[in-house]
Amino acid sequence: MSVKKFIAANWKMNKGLVQSQQFAEEIRAYYEKHKISHIDIVLCPPYTSLEAVHRKINGSGIKLGAQNMHHESMGAYTGEICASMLKSCGAEYVIIGHSERRQYCNETNATINKKVLKALDEGLKPILCIGETLQEREDKITEGVIEEQLKSCLSHISEEQMESIVIAYEPVWAIGTGKNATPHQVESVHNFIRKKLKKMYPDDTAEKVRIIYGGSINPENAKELFALETINGGLIGGASLEVQSFIEIINSTH
Ligand code: PEP
Repeated sequence: MSVKKFIAANWKMNKGLVQSQQFAEEIRAYYEKHKISHIDIVLCPPYTSLEAVHRKINGSGIKLGAQNMHHESMGAYTGEICASMLKSCGAEYVIIGHSERRQYCNETNATINKKVLKALDEGLKPILCIGETLQEREDKITEGVIEEQLKSCLSHISEEQMESIVIAYEPVWAIGTGKNATPHQVESVHNFIRKKLKKMYPDDTAEKVRIIYGGSINPENAKELFALETINGGLIGGASLEVQSFIEIINSTH
């Protein structure tokens, strides 16, 4: 089954209001001029720019995502943001379980599962990040790590809910390092993820799930990666900060 390709920009802790709005305006102009409809494009700015970016892209077909959320609905969690707040800013997607949050904010598969469940309950579509560290790859336990992440993070997720989830395979050693995984490495893990999803869900559900790759994608390596049928798109960090390089990556999906 062929699925619609999916490209998301993860700006991380970059861009203030003015730069976010400027980027959104420029990408919208390009998107509309070239009548792009063959892929889903999602911008994930910092919380502080969500609403402003939403105003700029609203009605264009470009979608909005957040980079994280809390797993509770509301309450005494100073500094946190919940799913309904993201929705009220226009977010449709939310990145959950990014390796930087696992690494710096102690997020575990268990807390990530709570976030995925809450996001779905509140009508947000999770972009669930999974991936092995360099040590785990060297120890040849990549598949075991991925399997455990899938099982734990997707615990109690129904068939119907699964269709709203995008899985981002992001090997930790490739994120922000300039060292992307080879198409062969990505293909092998994506095939493994699809196989595991088919064990957990009916085939037609598992086949609808988009499995994207993230890790040092740039305009130079994007075409080779996106040429593979098993790679349904990308989560782009550093190379999504400049409109021109993001556009080149979008154009590599043809
Ligand atoms: C990311 O942050 O999800 C990511 C893939 O970053 P980069 O493209 O910079 O490696």
